[in-house]
Amino acid sequence: MTKLEVLTENRNRANDYVHEVYELVKKRNPDEKEFLQATREIFDSLRPVFAKHPEYIANGILERITEPERIISFRVAWEDDKGKVQVNRGFRVQFNSDLGPYKGGIRFHPSVNSSIMKFLAFEQIFKNALTGQPIGAGKGGSDFDPKGKSDREIMRFTQSFMTELSKHIGPDIDVPAGDIGVGKREIGYMFGQYNRLKGGYEAGVLTGKDPNHGGSLGRKEATGYGTVYFVEEMLNEYGQSIEGKTVIVSGSGNVSTYAMEKAQQLGAKVIACSDSDGYIVDSEGINLATVKRLKEVENKRIADYMKDHPNAEYHPDCSDIWSVACDIALPCATQNEIDEISAHTLIGNGVIAIGEGANMPCTIEAINLFHENRVLFAPAKAANAGGVAVSAMEMSQNSMRLSWTEAEVDERLKVVMHNIFESCKKAAENYGHPGNFAMGANIAGFLKVANAMVAHGIR
Ligand code: GLU
Repeated sequence: MTKLEVLTENRNRANDYVHEVYELVKKRNPDEKEFLQATREIFDSLRPVFAKHPEYIANGILERITEPERIISFRVAWEDDKGKVQVNRGFRVQFNSDLGPYKGGIRFHPSVNSSIMKFLAFEQIFKNALTGQPIGAGKGGSDFDPKGKSDREIMRFTQSFMTELSKHIGPDIDVPAGDIGVGKREIGYMFGQYNRLKGGYEAGVLTGKDPNHGGSLGRKEATGYGTVYFVEEMLNEYGQSIEGKTVIVSGSGNVSTYAMEKAQQLGAKVIACSDSDGYIVDSEGINLATVKRLKEVENKRIADYMKDHPNAEYHPDCSDIWSVACDIALPCATQNEIDEISAHTLIGNGVIAIGEGANMPCTIEAINLFHENRVLFAPAKAANAGGVAVSAMEMSQNSMRLSWTEAEVDERLKVVMHNIFESCKKAAENYGHPGNFAMGANIAGFLKVANAMVAHGIR
């Protein structure tokens, strides 16, 4: 056979393998559209890897990596303030433990179901691998809606949730953290309940704890800051920077707030942000102190921003935020918030870069459009990995029983984000798609886990 014939045969075999396994995943998870979307996005990137490395095919890596090691689903019964019994469904997906204990957040949101849990845990495999830290991948949550619940209701719910979850986690087994609807208050209640049930103090069982009792300084800021560090690295690569650019950021939670803060610190003008009710545009630049007060202290809606800043504009449909013209868009709210139509609008308005702060905020069609139109694209698995990276640093500090300063954590975060960017860039180049950081992230994350899976044997 000529060299060309060998290459063609390897490519065909890789394509057939990816196709066959995707059909298998579809058949096994027919109704899980978010999970299928996340797997398809990864599979599309991996064809050149299987063409070059048939040993991954022989080891059945794709069949194994798409099947969670364990899924726990449980009843969470609790009593609301009126004395009525409420029942929610709790989940923990323990997807992959080849690189370390399962690691990933807990989401409390009414949309939570098996598909959303599995897509998030699946994404976490590659994200956590990219950080270079010793963490496996998991995700958990519940369809509990924290909106409008009293503090005591939150406490009773989280205690009930942890009563079951505690049987399945531990500092060397599975280390949950926060995600949408779960911040340091919820983590605090879960931590208290876990230690009560275990009859001890296991500092490293959860991350995202309050820095005053067991948490890491800089964890709250890490995801948003890390996203902006990654975007800055990507812009620098093309001789640009975030300074002087106009930025819009969806959401107004943890990720969004600190993405806005870092973007402002680096000299960008952030002109819009949102919550699930609507979005605000402040052409003078978003006043972050007001957003923090509304969201971190008063638990108010973003519409209330108008009371302090009457010259800003409020629009009641949050998904329309992408119609605001900008240089850089940072989707930091939730999955699939930028579809093909929003992508067209952003491109039409001259966007130069997208940085995914949320998990899978862009649909596959939107990502393809960005690439086709030469918009720089920072994929979530890489761009938002700063959060879990600092969680792993929290685990280290807990094990050593000491705490690093905020500056020390931030320095380490910068190094991690730089290394992630370099890995994505190199993997994209090595596999023939320079500048495609989404592909680079998928390939670099995959190789790290796949090599560990081969080394650990078929199981
Ligand atoms: N939920 C975050 C994520 O999507 C953080 C997970 C963690 O800190 O373990 O990566």
